[in-house]
Formats: sequence, C-alpha cells, structure tokens
Amino acid sequence: MAVGVLALQGSFKEHIACLRKLGVEAVEIRKPEQLAGLSGLIIPGGESTTMAKLAEKNKLFPALREFGSSGKPIWGTCAGLIFLADKAVGVKEGGQELLGGLDCTVHRNFFGSQLNSFEVELPVPALATQEGGAETTRAVFIRAPAIVGVGSSVEVLAEYPLSPSQTAHSPEQKGSSKDKVIVAVKQNNMLATAFHPELTSDLRWHSFFLKMISNGEDGTEVPGTEGTVA
Ligand code: GLN
Repeated sequence: MAVGVLALQGSFKEHIACLRKLGVEAVEIRKPEQLAGLSGLIIPGGESTTMAKLAEKNKLFPALREFGSSGKPIWGTCAGLIFLADKAVGVKEGGQELLGGLDCTVHRNFFGSQLNSFEVELPVPALATQEGGAETTRAVFIRAPAIVGVGSSVEVLAEYPLSPSQTAHSPEQKGSSKDKVIVAVKQNNMLATAFHPELTSDLRWHSFFLKMISNGEDGTEVPGTEGTVA
C-alpha cells in the first residue's frame, strides 16, 4: 500500500515522516499521473491559495477530483481542509479554487492571523479506540480555519470551545451565541482536521486515516490490506 502526500508546498515532509514511522510507503505527489496506484492521499497544511494556484499550474484538479470521487480516502489538514471543503468563506476577493467533495463550509482564517496560533489538548472520542487510548490529542492550530457549517452526512469528530477573544476574531461569530466550532470531521472517504497532527508525536490521526484505507471507505475490508495498520 502506498499513500501519497500532495507536495506542492506546506508541511508535506512532516506527513511523509509520520507515515514512514508507521511503516507505510509514502510518496510525494506533484503531478496527476503520480496519483495512479495510490491507496490514499493527504493534503497538508500550508497556504491554501498558493496550493490551489500550484495545483492549477500542475493541472492536478481533474485528477484529484477523480481520485476523491473514486472513493479513495483523502485527508486534508488545515489548508488541506480548506481545499477539500465545498464552500469557503473569508477567502480573497475573486475566491480561490477548491477541490470540494466535503459537504461543509469552512472559514479560512477563522482564528485570525499567525499571531493567533495556539495549541490545546482537544478531546476526540474517535481516537480513544486507537492504540494509545488517551481521549485527548495535542492540537496545533496555525492561522487555522474552522468549520462553521456541515451537511447531514458529515460526522463531527472534534469541536473546540471558543474563548471570548477568539470569538472576536471572526466577523461571522461576532454577536453570535455560538461558543464552539467544528475542527475535525469525516464524511465517507474524506477526513479533515483544522489543526496539524503531523507536527506532534501523536501518530493516532495517521493510524486513523490508514484504518480508513484498509477498511475501504464503506467499511468493508480491502483484500490484501488487513493488518497493514498496527
Ligand atoms: N489559513 C491558511 C490558509 O488559508 C491555512 C493555514 C495552515 O494550513 N496552517 O491556507
């Protein structure tokens, strides 16, 4: 099994290192033809506008959309989440091209600027079943987006309670009674996190994604991949 990491810019090397620590063949992806034969794909954090421009330049959009609609698992972290969303708000004038497929609305720089980056212990019940057992995960938010709306087929994996100063950073949140935002979701073959698991030593998100691959997106085992994930 080979897992690709979109390597146009951003934290792709860190994702590759995590996958290799788990004993998985990890491949840097820059061209459409490199997607052939992959079992799953990670779209890393970085800067979603730049990533979209480079994807356009490398003619990657049709092949990436085909990859997603074929049911193969895709995980987007931070800018990768923005890329996967069907709708983004707080984007530059004229918008930016999104891959889409994930039925959610994402607010691009929800938490504010780079200066408003932060780390928290985030409760994630879905990770409690993974090896290691702890129910919280260290979540690193860097100029992070947040999910401000989801469709009915989206499973919410983690929510983050907003502090009053964080509420003030988002025009969408001002004056709203919303006191938390969604920061991790799963929808069929798609996983998305607003934070960066690849920048921590906690490999449970990568294991979670590898299990999505080995189970097949609809929960059935893919022949020959059983036991791939420890
Ligand atoms: N907010 C950034 C963007 O628009 C994403 C930040 C990140 O990936 N760390 O792309």
